[in-house]
Amino acid sequence: MQQNLEITDAPKIVVAIDGFSSSGKSTMARELAKRVGYIYIDSGAMYRAVALYALRHDMFKEDNTVDLEALLPHIPELSISFQKKAGEDGVQHTLLNGVDVEDEIRDLEVSNRVSLIAEIPQVRQRMVELQQEFGKQKGIVMDGRDIGTTVFPNAELKIFVSAGLHERARRRWRELTQKGMDIRFEEVLANLAERDKIDTTRKVSPLKKAPDAIELDNDAVTHEEQMEWLLKLFQETTENIENESRG
Ligand code: C5P
Repeated sequence: MQQNLEITDAPKIVVAIDGFSSSGKSTMARELAKRVGYIYIDSGAMYRAVALYALRHDMFKEDNTVDLEALLPHIPELSISFQKKAGEDGVQHTLLNGVDVEDEIRDLEVSNRVSLIAEIPQVRQRMVELQQEFGKQKGIVMDGRDIGTTVFPNAELKIFVSAGLHERARRRWRELTQKGMDIRFEEVLANLAERDKIDTTRKVSPLKKAPDAIELDNDAVTHEEQMEWLLKLFQETTENIENESRG
């Protein structure tokens, strides 16, 4: 049986987990948060919610670029929040302007456009502000692309998850088809490759490993091994901080 860590007296920290799309970082981040009683924030869901908003309001032009004149005035007023769903083992849903959009933001249409939204500096600035607000009280695990580099450069524990493109595409394709989506493997592979390219080359906060992040090659380990490794790191980090504060 899974054991949750006894952390009542331990100092609360910020855990930043970054990595490529479908590298398994969200699963790790969500499970760590649950095991140690922290809040989990999926920062990718926030960019997805903005992409969904832009799609619903026809803010993509015919050449697939974003209509910035239409989108930018709405950025400051967008509300993005998270709510635990009762009866689903505490699964967290994303709300856009108070409405549950958890299923819609996972659609391929959103996946195909989200990186175009995430490279807009004004969108990033707003999302980073919201993310920093979520982390003010610490006791948070956040996953994304720039959490250890930009959102929480002082996070006490930073992980960078890597995995090969084909393995990530296989994982994502399995997830989507299990949900009943009719999609070809090649389509998923192309979407991930395109997102990797945009995410690593954009001007603002490109996806990269923070110098002080600890790298995990997720191709080589089982989920149980990952979690054991991560929980040990978490425990060591909080213990070190506790010892330092005691002098
Ligand atoms: O994590 P997920 O794959 O759901 O993220 C969707 C997209 O949101 C990424 O491909 C990336 O373009 C963007 N993103 C980002 N910065 C983050 C999290 C996600 O640019 N911190």
